[in-house]
Amino acid sequence: MQQPLSAVPDPAVEPVYLSSYYRTQGDPAAGAYHYLRGGNPNWTALETELGKLEQARSLVFASGMAAVHATLLALTPDRPRVILFDVGYYESRRLAQRMQHVDAVVLAAGDYDTVERAAAERPSVVWLESPTNPLLQVVDIQRMSEIAKKNGGVVAVDNTTATPILQQPLDLGAAVSVYSLTKSMSGHSDLLLGSIATRDDDLFQRIQDWRTSGGAIAGPFETWLALRGLKTVRLRVERQSENAAAIARFLAGHPAVTAVHYPGLDPDPVLDRQMPRGAGPLLSFEVRDIAAADAVIAGARLINPGTSFGGVETSWERRSRWPTETALGPLIRLSAGIEPVEEILEDLERALSLAE
Ligand SMILES: *Cc1c(COP(=O)(O)O)cnc(C)c1O
Repeated sequence: MQQPLSAVPDPAVEPVYLSSYYRTQGDPAAGAYHYLRGGNPNWTALETELGKLEQARSLVFASGMAAVHATLLALTPDRPRVILFDVGYYESRRLAQRMQHVDAVVLAAGDYDTVERAAAERPSVVWLESPTNPLLQVVDIQRMSEIAKKNGGVVAVDNTTATPILQQPLDLGAAVSVYSLTKSMSGHSDLLLGSIATRDDDLFQRIQDWRTSGGAIAGPFETWLALRGLKTVRLRVERQSENAAAIARFLAGHPAVTAVHYPGLDPDPVLDRQMPRGAGPLLSFEVRDIAAADAVIAGARLINPGTSFGGVETSWERRSRWPTETALGPLIRLSAGIEPVEEILEDLERALSLAE
């Protein structure tokens, strides 16, 4: 005899909830869903998983920049100075500099004494990234946190490059971690999203308020895709790190390559403490000149030419094609994917033969 179908389906995977509002059942203030801009089950599912990665509370946003924006707005009323670094993500620097109520200063990455002087003048938000992009310098997050806190300041870490799989900024004294989920966290180069993680309930509330009133919210479908990507983040990031390290070693021994930037190529105690499981997917290297760099990029068959990073496919670009880039002309930034490393090295060998 045919079994009756269950009246309440119970899918193993969270469905996509395409509904702009919810039939009212309960008090919105008590956490019930009511209107999509305030919350929905797809955000909750993703934020729960993101929060577990840092033993923190998480919020998702429409993009990495939307998360940066809300975080800067939430942090700056009581700390008017924002200290940023010359090698960080350009758009975050530009955003802070355009905010009328913010006193943005841009310093050289790794210059702890200058940061200490700037943070002593006014309570500050130190906005940092480590490893830096595209030169992959390692910044000591714990030391920066101690410097910022002396005068009522805080450190916010854009942890996009490292991911929480490899680096836990909140354990190192940061008040908040910020992510572009567009990169390694979602990992498949098919969406734009951002997030934050913090253990400070008051800061969480203020960032959430800015999300609700600013309205830069994630769509349920992108959120669902990001959650699917997140299920493999550990595998992907570990493989990307192994591949990046192997590629960096290969490039360091290649006659057409004049410099390689990858953390851990030389011993670094800060890196060992801060990122004990690997240094992430990004590396950069230099060849003779711009023409050689362009010939190398055009000569690859496997490696995708293009910006962005953190995807499952290896990609690269000459950074100086962007007018805002401060890195040297012939510098190529490479994002290691998860392909078999022999295939990547074979493609590199072929492409680099065009630079000689
Ligand atoms: C890409 C990126 C951002 C911006 O993220 P979007 O998702 O593109 O808005 C911010 N910080 C870093 C380090 C990034 O790589």
